Amino acid sequence: MPKQHADIIIIGAGIAGAGLAAMIAGDRKVIILEAEDHPGYHSTGRSAAVLIQNYGNTTIRALTRISRSYLEHPPEGLNSHALLHTRGCLFTAAENNCDDIKTLMQQAEGLTAVTAEEAQAMIPALKPDAVHMAAYEAAAADIDVAALHQGWLRMAKMSGAELNVRERVKTIKRTHNLWQLETDRHAYTAPVIVNAAGAWADPVARMAGVKPAGIVPKRRSIAILPEPAHYHASDWPIFGNVNDTWYCKPETGRLLVSPADEDPVEPMDAYVDDLVLAEGLHRFEQAVDFPVSRIEGSWAGLRSFAPDNTPVVGFAPDADGFFWLAGQGGYGIQTAPAISQLAAVLITGARPASSFSSDILASISPNRFIENRTY
Ligand SMILES: Cc1cc2nc3c(=O)[nH]c(=O)nc-3n(C[C@H](O)[C@H](O)[C@H](O)COP(=O)(O)OP(=O)(O)OC[C@H]3O[C@@H](n4cnc5c(N)ncnc54)[C@H](O)[C@@H]3O)c2cc1C
Repeated sequence: MPKQHADIIIIGAGIAGAGLAAMIAGDRKVIILEAEDHPGYHSTGRSAAVLIQNYGNTTIRALTRISRSYLEHPPEGLNSHALLHTRGCLFTAAENNCDDIKTLMQQAEGLTAVTAEEAQAMIPALKPDAVHMAAYEAAAADIDVAALHQGWLRMAKMSGAELNVRERVKTIKRTHNLWQLETDRHAYTAPVIVNAAGAWADPVARMAGVKPAGIVPKRRSIAILPEPAHYHASDWPIFGNVNDTWYCKPETGRLLVSPADEDPVEPMDAYVDDLVLAEGLHRFEQAVDFPVSRIEGSWAGLRSFAPDNTPVVGFAPDADGFFWLAGQGGYGIQTAPAISQLAAVLITGARPASSFSSDILASISPNRFIENRTY
């Protein structure tokens, strides 16, 4: 079996693997191994592609803030056009969940309380009883995920990285201070491997004899609806119920509506559960004044969470040269620039930029789950 050697092998070419490769290739020989025919086939290619600052826990918000400035000012060579397109995001609450808006407002950043009338002026299709209170994040933005992902892969390649698709890693062993990986067609060795396998992060760790971090893939579905008659919805902000029971992202000529489902599943090529989708669309239909009469398409993807809903980034404490880059949950695109930068400095031993506080570093460290060094 042909054998290749690298300084760093990254398992998975989604946004996590691509971002790290772009930031670390050059001085080091990097090989990215991707199981599928094309990178981005799983979660990265199935996201809603939005950046919302007031989403997720404190660490997620800090990583999103750092990422936003990267996305607004990408390095030369990444992309020639804007990666962010400001759209706004409206959080709504019916009478029975106004407390959730109050809680959101307490920890908010760039979030303005708006009246029910103002909310309805933004989204005229909202039924009056669906909006008792609301809050608006004006800076929430669409992310050009394909441009970011492809741009990073291109940057990585220009710095000498190699991307090998249809290369599912099937065995991982460590001998003579080197990781030995095998796919169906090739063998690879490297002193450092990066687990950027998304929903498969725990199975990849187990394959390497490393203690899993407890990452659980959760399915999330999206339906495509036609633009409702009599409305020009493409200028609407993203809008959704503050307690995350549905959300809607308007796009030119269509609406993306998600039931905001979070059902734990095995790692897989995710597919929509029609019943879950129907229930979610029913919740959406109760909030707007038009019927959901036709579904033009749908898809599902996996959002993979660590037990504390915070990414797992850093060297495993129980195995030399095994680096975790997983558990990005529902925020893996909007936090990818910051997470990639952090992963690169942690692997190379460089000093993290001052924007990465010690709290952030501690909160993402795999040490919080995996203490015993058994390797
Ligand atoms: C419906 C939906 C909406 C979302 N909306 C947003 C959003 O608006 N904003 C946001 O920031 N985030 C969003 N997310 C989350 C975001 O998509 C993920 O956090 C992110 O894509 C995770 O990237 P990843 O590279 O870790 O995983 P993936 O993109 O899944 O990449 C992992 C790769 O590893 C490969 N792999 C696995 N095992 C092996 C192996 N043994 N050998 C080789 N390769 C392997 C897989 O084939 C896969 O390509 C959403 C997710 C979903 C599903």
